[in-house]
Amino acid sequence: MARRGHREPEVRSGEPGRVTGAQEGSDGPAGAAPIEAQAGAGTDVSGEPPTVDPTERVELLLRDLRSSRSGLPSREAARRFIHYGANEIRRRGGRRWPRELLLQFTHPLALLLWLAAALAWAAGIIPVAVAILVVIVINAVFAFVQEVQAERAVEALAAYLPAQAKALRDGRVQVLRAAELVPGDVLVIEEGDRISADARLLEGGIEVDLSALTGEAMPVFRSADLADTGVGLLQARDLVFSGTTCTEGAARAVVFATGMRTELGRIAALSERVEREESPLERQVRRVAWLIAAIALALGVAFIPIAAFGAHLPLGDAVVFAVGLLVGNVPEGLLPVITLALALGVRGLVRRGAVVKRLSAVETLGSTSVICTDKTGTLTENRMRVTTVWTAAGDHVLAPAERRAGRDAAAGGLAVVMAACNNAQPGAAGGLVGDPTEVAMLEAARVLGDGRPGTRLRQFHFDPVLKRMSTVDERDGGVWVDTKGAPEAVLPRCATIMEADGVRAPLTAERRRAVERVVDARARQGLRVLAVAERPLAADRPPPERRDDAERELTLLGLVAMQDPPRPGVAEAVAHCHSAGIRIIVVTGDHALTAAAIAAQVGIVGDHPTVVTGDRLDRMSEDELDTLLRDHHELIFARSSPEAKLRIADALRAEGHVVAMTGDGVNDAPALRRADIGVAMGRSGTDVAREAATMVLTDDDFSTIVAAVRSGRQVYDNIRKFICYIFAHSTPEIAPFLVFALAGGAVPLPLTVLQLLAFDVGTETLPALALGREPAEPGIMKRRPRRRSEGVIRGSMLVRAWLFLGVICAALTLAGFFYVLLRAGWRPGDPTGPGTPLNHAYRQATTMTFLGMIAGQVGTAFAARTERASLRSIGPWSNPLLLWGIVFELALAAVLIYAPPFQALLGTAPLSADMLAFVAPFPVIVWGADEVRRWVLRRREDRDRQGAASVPG
Ligand code: ADP
Ligand code: MG
Repeated sequence: MARRGHREPEVRSGEPGRVTGAQEGSDGPAGAAPIEAQAGAGTDVSGEPPTVDPTERVELLLRDLRSSRSGLPSREAARRFIHYGANEIRRRGGRRWPRELLLQFTHPLALLLWLAAALAWAAGIIPVAVAILVVIVINAVFAFVQEVQAERAVEALAAYLPAQAKALRDGRVQVLRAAELVPGDVLVIEEGDRISADARLLEGGIEVDLSALTGEAMPVFRSADLADTGVGLLQARDLVFSGTTCTEGAARAVVFATGMRTELGRIAALSERVEREESPLERQVRRVAWLIAAIALALGVAFIPIAAFGAHLPLGDAVVFAVGLLVGNVPEGLLPVITLALALGVRGLVRRGAVVKRLSAVETLGSTSVICTDKTGTLTENRMRVTTVWTAAGDHVLAPAERRAGRDAAAGGLAVVMAACNNAQPGAAGGLVGDPTEVAMLEAARVLGDGRPGTRLRQFHFDPVLKRMSTVDERDGGVWVDTKGAPEAVLPRCATIMEADGVRAPLTAERRRAVERVVDARARQGLRVLAVAERPLAADRPPPERRDDAERELTLLGLVAMQDPPRPGVAEAVAHCHSAGIRIIVVTGDHALTAAAIAAQVGIVGDHPTVVTGDRLDRMSEDELDTLLRDHHELIFARSSPEAKLRIADALRAEGHVVAMTGDGVNDAPALRRADIGVAMGRSGTDVAREAATMVLTDDDFSTIVAAVRSGRQVYDNIRKFICYIFAHSTPEIAPFLVFALAGGAVPLPLTVLQLLAFDVGTETLPALALGREPAEPGIMKRRPRRRSEGVIRGSMLVRAWLFLGVICAALTLAGFFYVLLRAGWRPGDPTGPGTPLNHAYRQATTMTFLGMIAGQVGTAFAARTERASLRSIGPWSNPLLLWGIVFELALAAVLIYAPPFQALLGTAPLSADMLAFVAPFPVIVWGADEVRRWVLRRREDRDRQGAASVPG
């Protein structure tokens, strides 16, 4: 049922050199596309807009596109938007609901029901055959409705992650929704950006990940300076395409195709909708459903000879009963209910700030046992504020009064470099926008001095491996290298230090140590420390091309310490993780002491954590890493590189952990893919990380990960609840037939086949759906994580459903049946058929069985609401949907029992007051028995826990 029409990579060959393979969907939202698929957006305009040749000379192309290197005026862009339509990919065909509805009628379990109907028809029992058809229709419609709802929930997710793009409009860089791009727009592409339209590079060079278009995983270099003629579009080295991502570098490019006219659009137009993979849970349940169907079939087949020869039933009747057993026990409603429960989980997560891209992620989340988290932005607010600045002259406390007072040469130079080696920019709202570290430094620079940064000649961008950034700037008649970065990354490259009077003094080993002491002291307070340095270049020689040549023989100007307070709520979330048996490992690029201080502030570690720096990790063998991860529970990886994340994720997964891993940079993408749950930041991360992730946090908050784990556990619990509920049907359904068959004709059949079918459809779906919306059980975050290998259907659950709840229901039901018969004077062997004196009593007795089964299921529904906790602890009325489901069930039962047409059809008869009184306590008995069972269970668990706690060691 979860399978859509399957889709193969499309290969188009008509045009030479334009062979492409569609690869989208591997990371995208299930059911929706990884692209902003919004059906029905008006891309259709009268008259196809003129197409251009993207490979012609740049100047010609710009002319054809009526654009320039400085982009479009926003008014012209608005006009074009109307003409060309939104830059969106539409899926072909939209909803093909007739076909999907048809699929519900033809999936294997439904086919089994068809077989049953055909058998009943062949045996000449037309009402039963018709009833089975009704069962099939009701199930198919229900399943279809649930699927549609599930799909909607997932499709709606795309709206929460609108793709953005940077383009030049009115000569300025503006951030727009990618859907607003039009041909002629000049894109500004930077490392980590997703490219949202097909474009020709105008300047710069970038590494591009084309895998969404070609399936090729290795990034390729694309540059404005590389012109190709005579190759296919995708091979042309000066073109970039929608759906690909920039993994390195920066460039500008003019858009020549948008929406369905892009290469991606062409592929989407050809391909079917994205296939939804089945989650492990669904796969497991489907297997079990099959197993049960097989058992039902076997039971049904075995019933025929027993009934025919043991109970001397006409063969036709025996076949009909077998059919009833089969239909009653095939759990056809199970899978759609699970899909819907997962989808509802996804929807709930969105409200909590977590957008997951696959239904199955909900289930994986629930079993998360380790969270590897960044520090900056996830545990902290990512709102940096420079607190102190240190130069050779000493500390400068940053207060506005500082501006004029006590400026020394080092502080003045420091301010200039802080402003020069900086990419923060004034934003539209007045403040500064950019990397929070840089925003803080630019703000501090403005307070500290008023030197002008000059003009930038080139940039060596911030590299999370090197942990520093440099620019080459021209100012005050000279050329300078301006560097900032982690002290460990900058100090070794410094030869001198700037004194207060402006003299460059040698940075002796002793002074180096003094600087390091300052760094450590700041870091220990949880501050982020950056070193700032510069180097004058000879004006008559061209500036160095290579990073290594530029970043050497620097003069240390000073240290900048900034504060980034922990987010509110993180400490509490950390405590929840710990009580839930989830480990938290901090993996950060920051200083060891800073990381340890922040981790201690939010309670992740105590006073003596194990801090492993990147260098040490690099030198560790895999075995050493495994031992480290196993033996040290308070672990921090500081000054780590993105590759470290990959190694850590691998090592943890090899140990059987289910790993959630956060990341925000381009280099984090492999680790995000490798972790069980890759978590990217919706606000601060790159598009590349978001695309690689399974879950995107719209608020970047660590607490949201924990909330998501909690919802994952809740959804999984709820699925188990309704599986238990649905399975509990079986015993009371089979028992009457067993009694009948084993009695060898002495006892009439306690339940007619049509009554069985009515029970099956009338009681199953609604309460099951309601159980899927149960609130979380208390103590949900006090349990240890479920193990990866642990199945959703466990032995203990089957015992509870079949042998405990089921057997109690069956016993009660049969008690009701015999109560009515015996009271009417029936003795074993007495005839009860039509026309006999006991016939009315017999009809009442079967009606009792029918009502007794329904009453028992009401009790089961209440019992299934919790797995361990008492009903009182969650409140008996806290799931209104379930109450409505039960009201509906009882109303339906009343109609079937008291409406004459149904009496004729099902063989029911009105019950007297004492009979109703007999059934009335059934729900309470079933539920009460389970309440006692759970109480015993809880007591045993408590005792075990105490026992475990008192074991020495
Ligand atoms: P995290 O986000 O885990 O704190 P990052 O990889 O972002 O780590 O940064 C690692 C280190 O690199 C920081 O501690 C800081 O010293 C330095 N750094 C961070 N941002 C910049 C930047 N924009 N320019 C220079 N150095 C930086
Ligand atoms: Mg960072």
